[in-house]
Amino acid sequence: METGRDAEETAGLLRALEFSAAKHRDQRRKDREASPYINHPIEVASVLANVGGVGDLTTLVAAILHDTIEDTDTSPEELEARFGRETRLLVQEMSDDKTLDKMERKRLQVEHAPSLSEKAKLIKLADKICNVRDVTHRPPARWPLTRRREYLDWTERVVAGCRRGNAALEAHYDRVLREGRELLGRADVGSSGD
Ligand code: NDP
Ligand code: ZN
Repeated sequence: METGRDAEETAGLLRALEFSAAKHRDQRRKDREASPYINHPIEVASVLANVGGVGDLTTLVAAILHDTIEDTDTSPEELEARFGRETRLLVQEMSDDKTLDKMERKRLQVEHAPSLSEKAKLIKLADKICNVRDVTHRPPARWPLTRRREYLDWTERVVAGCRRGNAALEAHYDRVLREGRELLGRADVGSSGD
C-alpha cells in the first residue's frame, strides 16, 4: 500500500508527540479554560501539514517540539540526541532568549524573522496563525481588547519577515488576521468596544 510516508517517518512523528506531551504535561495555555498546552504544538504541526501541504518530516517534528526549549527543561543537546541535529537547530531558531525581558524578546522576533531558515519561517508562520486564532477566539484570561489588538499587530510584523515560502500558509494567516480584526477591531483605528 502506498502511504506517502514510510514507517520510520511515522514513528519519528509519534516519538516527537510522545516527547512533547511528556515535557509539556504540567502546562496549560493561558485561555480561560486553561487548555492543555500540548494542543498548541499539535495544532501548529497540523496547520503546516493540512493548510500548508508541508510534508517535510523535520519541519513537522520541529513544529511539535517548537516550545520545548523555551517553555520546559528540555536542552538542545537532548533534542539532538533524540531527533538529530537539524531538528535541534530548528527548535533553537524558534526559541526566544529567556534572559531578555519580554518586550525585548518581542522586538527581536520581528528583527530576526527575515534571517530565519526557510523551514523555521514556515513554523513561525504556522505558530502565528495559531496564536492569532487563540487571541481572537480563546484569549488569555484578563487581556483587555487593546492588548489583543496589539498582539495581532505584532504578529503581522513578525510574519512580514516570514513570507514568500508558502502561499497557502500566508493566505491563511491573512484570513485569520482579517477575521481577528473584524471581531476585535484594529489597534490603529481605535474603537469604543473596549
Ligand atoms: P505574552 O508574550 O505574555 O503572551 C502571549 C504568548 O503566550 C503567545 O505568543 C503564546 O506563545 C502564548 N499563549 C498561551 N496561551 C495563549 C492563548 N490562549 N492565546 C494566545 N497566546 C497564548 O503576551 P504579550 O506578547 O502581549 O506580552 C509581552 C510583554 O508585554 C509582557 O511582558 C507583558 O507583561 C507586557 N505587556 C503587554 C501589554 C500589551 O498591551 N501588549 C500590556 C501589559 C503588559 P507560544 O506560542 O510561545 O505559546
Ligand atoms: Zn508556539
